[in-house]
Amino acid sequence: MFAMPPAPAAMAGNYRSVTMASITIDEKICKGCGLCANACPKKVISISKHRMNANGYFVAEAVNKQNCIGCAFCAIMCPDCAIEVEK
Ligand code: SF4
Ligand code: SF4
Repeated sequence: MFAMPPAPAAMAGNYRSVTMASITIDEKICKGCGLCANACPKKVISISKHRMNANGYFVAEAVNKQNCIGCAFCAIMCPDCAIEVEK
């Protein structure tokens, strides 16, 4: 029976492992300004119509987390540093 030889190390280097990026929004300090939502190219973030923090702001929330590409545009745009991006 024919068996495939193992892939050489150089070939293995042609493949990129795919890891999911994710964001964490600190709702306590979010002001609901929407800058992060506007900056996100993948429409991951939106401003909640229901969740309000102790300061009375409707907060940003990740609604399509699975689409996050880890570009960090949201974190860069947030004036209150309320977003952390992990890759
Ligand atoms: S890291 Fe990029 S893709 Fe992910 S939520 Fe932020 S702006 Fe959107
Ligand atoms: S940019 Fe920052 S403060 Fe503004 S909605 Fe997004 S997380 Fe909240």
